[in-house]
Amino acid sequence: MSGYRGHIAGAIAVNGAYVAAVKLAPTSVLDRSGIALDDWQLLIGLFVIAVLFGLWPDVDTNSMGQNIFFGLAFIADIILIATGKLEAAAYLGLLAMTPIVGKHRGWTHSKLAMVLVPLPILLVPFIHNQHLLPQTLLIYGAAVAGYFSHLLLDGLITRHIRFKS
Ligand SMILES: [Zn+2]
Repeated sequence: MSGYRGHIAGAIAVNGAYVAAVKLAPTSVLDRSGIALDDWQLLIGLFVIAVLFGLWPDVDTNSMGQNIFFGLAFIADIILIATGKLEAAAYLGLLAMTPIVGKHRGWTHSKLAMVLVPLPILLVPFIHNQHLLPQTLLIYGAAVAGYFSHLLLDGLITRHIRFKS
């Protein structure tokens, strides 16, 4: 039995704790920016992001995460090639190969990757519009929360909790 259900549940649990912490934090950035965490669309978005990043580290092995992300990369690459963006297509192809270079639970299962892989979520909107920083920080946090839940269940944060695959 593959561990993706456990990783989905783990990502939901850790993101739930993250959202609760953000909501309870007395002087958070979010308070000042007026983001309403009662907005259910935003909440669902945060959980979807957390679950996706909770599955992502296993792109380095035959898993649900690999099916989802290779599927997305494949479709994106076809669109890039069809629209003549060959250089972008080449870079995407190269990038998509990186998780399977090396062993299972290699770099995709590192704490550094947990912080760096979701970083484009933060950087891309910020480059376009600095006013979006509170929103992108919130979403970035959900991504890291999901990623963290994966490493936690894989026993890579603390050895006391361990889950398969
Ligand atoms: Zn894993």
